[in-house]
Amino acid sequence: MRIATVLIPLPLPEAFDYAEPEGMDLAVGEVVAAPLGPNVVRGVVTSLRDASGGNRPLRAVAGRIETPPLPRESLDFVEWAARYCVDAPGQPLAIALRGSSAPKARPERVLIPTGKVPTRPTPARERVLQAAASEALAPAALARAAGVSDGVVAALVADGALAEELREAPVAFPPPDPEHDPPRLNPSQSAALEELATMVARDAFTVALLDGVTGSGKTEVYLEAAAAVLRRDPEAQVLILLPEIALTEAVIARIAARFGAEPAAWHSGLHPTRRRRVWEAVTRGACRIVVGARSALFLPYRRLRLLVVDEEHDASYKQEEGFIYQARDLAVARAKIAQAPVILASATPSLETLWNAQSGRYQWLKLANRHGGAVLPTIELVDLRRHSPPTGRWLSPPLVDAMRETLTKGEQALLFLNRRGYAPLVLCKACGERLKAPDTESWLVEHRYTGRLVCHLTGFSMRKPDRCPYCTAKDSLVSVGPGVERVEEETKALFPAARVAVFSSDTAPGAESARELIARMTDGDIDILVATQGAAKGHNFPGLTLVGVVDADLGLRGGDLRAAERTFQLIAQVAGRAGRMARRGRALLQTWAPDHAVMRTLADHDRDAFAALELAEREAAGLPPFGRLAAIIVSGPDAQQLDRFAADLASVAPNAAGVDLFGPADAPFSLVRGRRRKRFLVRADRDVDLQGFLGAWRARVKVPGQVRLTIDVDPYSFL
Ligand code: ADP
Repeated sequence: MRIATVLIPLPLPEAFDYAEPEGMDLAVGEVVAAPLGPNVVRGVVTSLRDASGGNRPLRAVAGRIETPPLPRESLDFVEWAARYCVDAPGQPLAIALRGSSAPKARPERVLIPTGKVPTRPTPARERVLQAAASEALAPAALARAAGVSDGVVAALVADGALAEELREAPVAFPPPDPEHDPPRLNPSQSAALEELATMVARDAFTVALLDGVTGSGKTEVYLEAAAAVLRRDPEAQVLILLPEIALTEAVIARIAARFGAEPAAWHSGLHPTRRRRVWEAVTRGACRIVVGARSALFLPYRRLRLLVVDEEHDASYKQEEGFIYQARDLAVARAKIAQAPVILASATPSLETLWNAQSGRYQWLKLANRHGGAVLPTIELVDLRRHSPPTGRWLSPPLVDAMRETLTKGEQALLFLNRRGYAPLVLCKACGERLKAPDTESWLVEHRYTGRLVCHLTGFSMRKPDRCPYCTAKDSLVSVGPGVERVEEETKALFPAARVAVFSSDTAPGAESARELIARMTDGDIDILVATQGAAKGHNFPGLTLVGVVDADLGLRGGDLRAAERTFQLIAQVAGRAGRMARRGRALLQTWAPDHAVMRTLADHDRDAFAALELAEREAAGLPPFGRLAAIIVSGPDAQQLDRFAADLASVAPNAAGVDLFGPADAPFSLVRGRRRKRFLVRADRDVDLQGFLGAWRARVKVPGQVRLTIDVDPYSFL
């Protein structure tokens, strides 16, 4: 008899042993049904061994589930990710299996000629029968192919000349053709590609930073690296990770044009049947290029030979809920498991990546300029102390003048403000209270389109009341500060003839609406786009020559580890949207702190100077990338119980050299949905086994039922 270790996709501390029933002949990676308590659950066989005598009786595997097995590499990755993130291995396994249990596409109804001659043959009916003979099509598609109305097809079915049949919808992942339509690369792009081609030919784990300003052709170059991979091995699989769903459409279109075949997309917006189909095609190796969001890392690749992380600095690679992971870091680990190269592409690399490139651990490939002679925009600082907007307004006179000039020339402007809604804060001028969501320590944001006050943390929303909910004063609520809706209102008042639109997750909540707004902007149907960060990333707007950053200091205020870095990256990205084609662009940054290092280096286009300054500060403080951080967040409904638990946890922290422990302290969001929150921060020297420390610490306490303990290795959020 053999014993099968089965990992279950639930947050349980470890995998369980089961007896393999006689004759089942399981293999590692197979998906099985196994009893767990009173239930039968899905799990994956991670190892098999012969039972030695004296084993205690085990429950038996209940059965095999008909789905392709997970490749060994996927299992290794799941285990590695769990260890690295100090979480239960069932958590990443659940992500890896997400496509396997989605519903299958229902078979399609197609029409087949029966051989019966129609009672009344007409030329239209003849055409339908001919079309049906050459291809089995669904009724509507058949009518289209024959150029007739649906009625003609229906009549032939009624007549018995066509019969319905159910067919599995075909899996449409035609192989990409690396010779389909290659670009002619410029010398700097060719040089980078040559290095990448050498990496690809070595068939080994390597990391390359592809570093070039927006528009320098990073996408062109990494697609050619993918072509090189597919030339060497037509069965190879390539994964391209993107930070935003809104960007996938454009990249998919470019891949389709380059390789003559659409890649598979993978993201949260995918229809479940599509999800199942992509998952199965990836395990079978039938799908060669996958373009996806972070969870695409966990797909069961058979033959992953290249990974690309585009916009590698983007903070949305960090998954903050459920299984907490940084997809860029995990992509590097996944590449190592596959013994394949990984390309990290960015115009503003993360300091971690930049430092790895500087110290020679990563290959550093630099693209010189924008392709085709387009030049970077000028960046000017507008000192708000000298050029303050009129009271209750947010656009300074120099920015308004620049907008007017731009509109006169028939060009487009983008106003960037990373704040959804109308006003970030509503307060009562009678009693001074700030409006908050119930049971949550976070301000309500006013949204004028919907007339509601919304908590961006929990999603709670309410109609804006006439009276202050605290002191009941009437008409006393005032909106404080600007969001994109308020800037839109001001813009419309200043330029009544201009076509103004807002791009945020409220106006473009899905891929479809985002694409539509982007298309309108690209086609010149919008004069002024007021946008949050969704529009700052990756899009090419040919007529856009002016970018106004409404509040350049906004991101600096939180003061967390990456505040300066993120502000620099975001503003450099947004400014880079101006003047991408033939026309020179300009960007105006409204700031109260024009002497701040971030503002000065932005205005000088001096990314390297910014990085050097910031790295020096991090080194002095022993912060990443020179040291390592982890956060522990504990939460619970009962403040006293939570305080007690946090104190207990603090008292059993292991003593370790090179580790500093801060906390427990109330989290900045100290109350969310009725749960109190407290945080610890761990700082460790680079040579400390941080995961080992955290694991040992957690093992020393028993977490009470109502309390939740979350470990966040390399935190991005400090809230
Ligand atoms: P990045 O990814 O660095 O922002 P892209 O690859 O998107 O740059 O290139 C910017 C624009 O320039 C795109 O429209 C792209 O098609 C075009 N481009 C870049 N390199 C070339 C090339 N060698 N030949 C033709 N067009 C190019």
